[in-house]
Amino acid sequence: MSVVHLFDRVFCFVVRIVFQGQKFYCPLCNRGYSVFFQMGNPPRRNARCPGCGSLERHRLLWTGMEHLYKKGILKKGGRLLHLAPEPSIARRLREVYECITADRAPMNVQVQTDVTKLCFADACFDVVICNHVLEHVPDDRKALSEIYRVLKPGGWASLQVPLVGEHTQEDLSIVDPVIRARLYGQIDHVRQYGYDFMKRINAAGFDAIFLKKNSFLIPSELDRLSVQCEDVVILGLKTR
Ligand SMILES: [Zn+2]
Repeated sequence: MSVVHLFDRVFCFVVRIVFQGQKFYCPLCNRGYSVFFQMGNPPRRNARCPGCGSLERHRLLWTGMEHLYKKGILKKGGRLLHLAPEPSIARRLREVYECITADRAPMNVQVQTDVTKLCFADACFDVVICNHVLEHVPDDRKALSEIYRVLKPGGWASLQVPLVGEHTQEDLSIVDPVIRARLYGQIDHVRQYGYDFMKRINAAGFDAIFLKKNSFLIPSELDRLSVQCEDVVILGLKTR
């Protein structure tokens, strides 16, 4: 074990002791905490788990996945492609799946590849996790078709994106980062998705699932998970 790794483990251990409590619950590290940290710009209160670094979207996705495993809609096990991997959720996925990590940039991943031109054979993954990626990708329809292509029939994809309103706002001629930040929420976002994102998922061949958080979690559970800025778990099922 490297010195950095050892320091990281000791730091996490101390943080978990100092902030242990019952007010908040993180399903990624399966622990209760007295606080979640503020994150983001503008700042979001109670956003980041002090123990594992999970954010609202990770906690909601994990809880939604557990709900859908119990319902028999999602299956555990098999090969999983994690695009732009998030450490807090990647650790837990490795317990259940044979994971391959990939990104357009080569840092901290096993495979360097572009989501619009994935360097994998057809039908070779049981699961693809592609969270908060598509809002950065100009040709998101091609990315969705690539994710569909590499999935086996019966496989599923997590396709989380920020959602606001009914209709997707998009103008690919806008490249000014200041205007993008104003219109789409971040300088490197190329669109602001609305709930009509479901149509793009369906057009790629998937059956889309938009699982609303209040359909499977009661208010006290939502408060403890602290997922205020997220409303739905977005998945695509490849049924054929
Ligand atoms: Zn955690």
